[in-house]
This record gives sequence, C-alpha cells and structure tokens, in this order.
Amino acid sequence: MKDERKKMKEEKDDRDVLKLCTLSGTTEIGRNCNFAQYKDEIVVIDAGYSFPGQEMYGIDYLIPNTRYLKKNKQYIKAILITHGHLDHIGALRWMLPDLGYPPIYAGGFAKSLIELKMKEYKMEDKVKIYGVDRNSQITIGKYFKASFIGINHSIPDAFSIFLESPKGNLFFSGDFKFDVKPANEPLSDYQKLHSLRGKVDLALIESTNATVPGKAPSETEVSKNLEEVISNYPGRIILSAFSSLITRLYSVIEIAKRTNRKVLLAGRSLDQAITIARNNGYIKVEDDIFIKDKELGKYPDNRILILCTGSQGERFAVLNRISLNEHRTIKIKKGDLVIMSSSEIPENISKIEKMTDRIIALGADLMKDTVNLKIHSTGHGNQEDIRAMVNMIKPKYIMPIHGSLTFRYFNKQNLEKWGFNKNNIFLTDDGQMWEYDGRTWRRGKKIESKPILIDGLGVGDIGDIVLKDRKQLSEFGVFTVILNLSANTKKIIGKPRFLSRGFIYFKHSHELLKEIQNCIFDTHREWLNSQKDIEQANEKELKTQLEKNLGKLIYKKTEREPIILVDVM
Ligand SMILES: [Zn+2]
Ligand SMILES: [Zn+2]
Repeated sequence: MKDERKKMKEEKDDRDVLKLCTLSGTTEIGRNCNFAQYKDEIVVIDAGYSFPGQEMYGIDYLIPNTRYLKKNKQYIKAILITHGHLDHIGALRWMLPDLGYPPIYAGGFAKSLIELKMKEYKMEDKVKIYGVDRNSQITIGKYFKASFIGINHSIPDAFSIFLESPKGNLFFSGDFKFDVKPANEPLSDYQKLHSLRGKVDLALIESTNATVPGKAPSETEVSKNLEEVISNYPGRIILSAFSSLITRLYSVIEIAKRTNRKVLLAGRSLDQAITIARNNGYIKVEDDIFIKDKELGKYPDNRILILCTGSQGERFAVLNRISLNEHRTIKIKKGDLVIMSSSEIPENISKIEKMTDRIIALGADLMKDTVNLKIHSTGHGNQEDIRAMVNMIKPKYIMPIHGSLTFRYFNKQNLEKWGFNKNNIFLTDDGQMWEYDGRTWRRGKKIESKPILIDGLGVGDIGDIVLKDRKQLSEFGVFTVILNLSANTKKIIGKPRFLSRGFIYFKHSHELLKEIQNCIFDTHREWLNSQKDIEQANEKELKTQLEKNLGKLIYKKTEREPIILVDVM
C-alpha cells in the first residue's frame, strides 16, 4: 500500500518546483540532452548523439538514455534545438518515436538538416517541426515560454535559449562564442542577452574552451589571413576544414571566387553540407565556381582550390587518402599547398602528424594554424567569451556543462575568479535532477542516464558498412564456414569446413572449433525444425542465423569480432 502510494507520487509530481535534468552530454562533448519539468510539463533541450570510444566495435552511435522521458512522454510538450550540430540533433531519429513525436523548434539551418534526416528515414509525416529565428518567443503548454537568442558558433542559426517557467527561469548557452566581426552572419544579440540580467535563475554554460585564455579569434580575421595566403600562392591549394563548420566553408568559397580559383569539393560529408547550405540560402554562390574531379586538368594550378575533409587524419577521409596516394583523381604534386584550417583534437595528434609527414614527403607545402597566423578559429568561446556571457546575463546560479570534469572544474574556477560565489556554481552529472523552489537549487534524484548504443547496420548506409567491414577485417580478420546441405533433406553432409585469415591459428584452437561446430549443429537443427516446407527451405535465414550465433559465441570466447562468412552449398 505504502509502495503503491509512493509510485503514484513518482508518476505525477504536483510539487511547486522547477526541475532540471542534465540528462546527457554534461560530462563530455557530445550526446547533448537536457530537460526542464514543471508539474506535468516537460521541455527537452537538444537531442544529440556521440561517437563510441575505440573499444565499442560494431557500435556506431551513442544516444541519450530515454527511459525517464519515455515513461513520461505524455508530458513532453516540445524539443528545443540550440543549433544543427550532430552532438545536438543527431539522436532525434531514434528518440522521436520513443517520445511520441513532440513538436520540435529549431532555427532554419538546423530545421533543414533535421528535415533531411527525417525524409531519409521516412519519418517526415510524423514529425512536427517549426522554424524559429532571433525574434522568436514561443509559448509551450500551460507553463513554459522560450526565447531564442542569436549567438555566434560555427554553423548558421545558433542560439542560446531562455526558458521561463512559473517557478524560475533557465538559460541554456548552447555552443557559443562572441565574434566581434563574424563572417557571413550577424553579431550575437547582445541587447537581448543584457535584457536577461537579473532574470536567470540558472545558466547552463558550455565549457569546451574553458581552459583557453583570451578571446576566440574572429572568423573575419581567419578569413582575411586565408585570403592573403591563397591569393599570393602560385600553385594549387588543397584546404581541409571540418564539414560542420559552414561559416568557414562559405568564407573559403568566397575567397576562391575573389582570387579567381575554381572549387572542387572533395568528400561526401562536405558536398552534402554545402548542398544543404546552398539549397536553403545560407551559402550564396553561382554553380560555375564549382568543378568536378575530371575538370582538374582544364585549369592552371593557380586557379584551383580543392576543399576537402580529413583534417584529423581519419583513415578514409579525403586528405588522408590523398596523403597515401590512394585518391583516385587528386594526386599531390610539387608546388601544391596544403592548408589545415582546423584544430587538432588531442587524441588524433600522432595520426595527423603521420599524414602531414606524408604530404610533405610527396612534395607539397604545408600550412597549419599558428598563434602568429590564425587560419582557424574555434566555434566555442574562450575564457573571455565565457566571462562576457556571464557578465551580461548575471545569472543567480551557474552550471558548467559540455565538457569533461576537468574542463568544467576550470570553468568553475574561472567563474570564482571573476567574482561568482562558489556556492552558486554547480558541477552536475549525467542524469542528475535539480530542483528549484524559487530560492535555492538542490540536488534531486538521479535518473537512469547510461547511453543507448546504436548499431547503424541495416539502417542503410552502404558506405558506412564497407568502412566498418574494413575496420573489422584489419582488426580481427575473417572466419569462414562452409556447410554442405543435402538437396532433399537439407541435413548437413559431413562436417562443416572452416577457413580463417588473421583470426585464429587452427592448430591451437581445437576447443574453440569444437564449440563452433556444436553451435553450427544446434543452429541448423533449430532452423530445420522451423521450416514448414523442406523443399522451399529458406537457406538465407540459416546463413543469417549462423552468422549471428557464431558472432556471439566467438565474441564470448575470444572477445574478438572477426568478419564471419557462412556459405551454404
Ligand atoms: Zn556545436
Ligand atoms: Zn556541441
């Protein structure tokens, strides 16, 4: 009886408190998702995914845990999106069905990206998505009101969000920086930020660059430096940048135009990003600036700019393939200049160096971002940007998010140094609920926040599958089973035969092979029993089932994941 009552209370919480849950993406960069709850209404902010660590083979994405939200889906009134990067929108296609397709509010660029994904996964009829801009103020349900505030980041239409409730107001910084001279986009909306002073009961502030002193360089400065380099260079330019950094890509294309160079877009993600940006009016250039691979020879070297991805030395990205001389049409030659308009993610540094070694060895000149010549700027504010933000809005309480504990810790230390009371700065965790009674915040319960693993196989991206196979092959080898079935009875004739390359040495694996054999017999027996008509037996089903069961067994026994091929004859 007592338990029953407690359960009832859990489901419907009528207490007069504003709740905030830092569900996901708090303690790292990626998989962002927070939500606010007041009585029977919930508003979700962002729904991003992250990439798995190196040990999670076969897993493509991690998405926020949806257990609590699923259970309370009838209360979810809206999903608000700060901006269109995948660590903020990438999980929507998996989360939306779980949450019953609540309406999404997103800026124009994010909206286009989301709509494209929804179409790809045939969800466009179920999804309600509304575009917002810098002037949008929306009423959500009975209790909430949200305002979108234009800030600078590295993608068009990036916002901070101010969320009002009857019991208190929240501010979500989103990913931001203050660019004093932004390229191709307006300044941050300082006036609106100022107008929030005294109204923010808790500000969630990103911590990505909390350890970097000074101010994030302006995109215009970067663009000016790039133009100087490019216009004075007599040979071909191969420039690599992040494909999510739309503002930079636009600048580079404009520089090409001004310096009379044609642009070759090399790399699928880059091509896609620019197509979306052009289709939606975020990048305004004529078609004739772009050329195809085969036209490379038609123009003199000083009229060519190749824009590509792969600044992190990713194995199959264009720049790395070029450096390995593996690219079909783009070959480095003496006199080329490779410009890395990017930062180096620490875990990639040695990979990047090996790649640039190869580029130099092939005879190209190389240019990287340096303190003296800024050819890259972060989309995330440095210490002075963060300081400017909190000084403008003067929140009562602050919560550093979007970074490991170390980064959030330094964010907190800076805030203290700048005069914020350390008792009013909270370091939170994923899944942590917070409650505000109008005066103080206190830690509530912790809800389940373990990320959900997504295996993208079968979702339909052949390119990804091929990459995955290659990776799997290189790491675990291949294990092949050949099975002879009788044409009439479909019983196994003789023993299964095995072939292996790079997986195990048969001589020393008798026990494992015996278990594999048993697994094959068991799976086959089960399959045979399930077939209604032996003559029409579905052998494809047997193959699939064998590959699955063997995969499981082999992983359990060896912690390896070779490619498993079954051939039924
Ligand atoms: Zn971002
Ligand atoms: Zn982010």
